[in-house]
Order: sequence, then C-alpha cells, then structure tokens
Amino acid sequence: MKVSEHIFLNPLFGLIMPPSKLTDEKLRQIQELAIHWGKIAARRAIEQAGPDAQLDFQAMEQIAAAAARGVTEGTIEALCQQQDQQLPEAVPCPECGKLVPLKHQQRPLAVEGAEILLDEPVGHCPACRRDFFPSKDDSALG
Ligand SMILES: [Zn+2]
Repeated sequence: MKVSEHIFLNPLFGLIMPPSKLTDEKLRQIQELAIHWGKIAARRAIEQAGPDAQLDFQAMEQIAAAAARGVTEGTIEALCQQQDQQLPEAVPCPECGKLVPLKHQQRPLAVEGAEILLDEPVGHCPACRRDFFPSKDDSALG
C-alpha cells in the first residue's frame, strides 16, 4: 500500500476534521447521570464514616472533590482509549512519509479537576530521529 493510500484509508484522517462536540442537551444528560454517581459516592462515604458520623461541610466538599476527580479520571481514560483504538498500527512520519509503528508511552496529564496518567500513542522515525504524536499533531498527516 502506498503512503498516500494509507493516509486516505487511515482512520486517523478523521482526526483532522473539526472535533465533534456534544450538544448542550447531551452534556446535560451526562451530568444527570453523574448526579446518580455522586449519590452512590455519598452512600459509600456514609458507610465508611459510619451512620452516626457528623460530616461538616468541608468534609462533604472533600468527598465530592474525590468523587469528581475519579469521574474525570475514568471518563478521560476511557475516551482516550476509545480514540486510540481508531489509530492504525503504523503511521507515516510527518518528515519523510515512511510508515513507522506506533508505540505507547505514559505521560501525566493535568486535566480540569484531576491529574491522569495518559497512555499516549507516539511514533518514532529512526531515519529522521524524531518522535511525533499522531492524535495531537495534525501535521503528522503531512
Ligand atoms: Zn521520517
């Protein structure tokens, strides 16, 4: 397969399209779902603290923040994994166009409200001695 065909057939190509966003209505539905998760987290916190425990507002905020961090972590992780599955095993080097295999490296990433360990796809071209990130760097597609 020629490189140009590879790019054409490459699901990565979709990543240079404008990123699709969910509508406000769909985001609101997800928020409503997360409200239920918050209630589950509250029940767990009460179980752990004991039914007679007196939680002040600061403690409640801490519990809510921990729950929010967990939801953020899990959501971003799952979405990134889903995007990764759409990547091919090899991508063209943005410099010379040679197909190089994609590897994964872990990178800490600060996101709103949490820090996650991202399993990031990275291409390395031995000829050009450069690394590139196909999901982040549109120029990877030439
Ligand atoms: Zn190269």
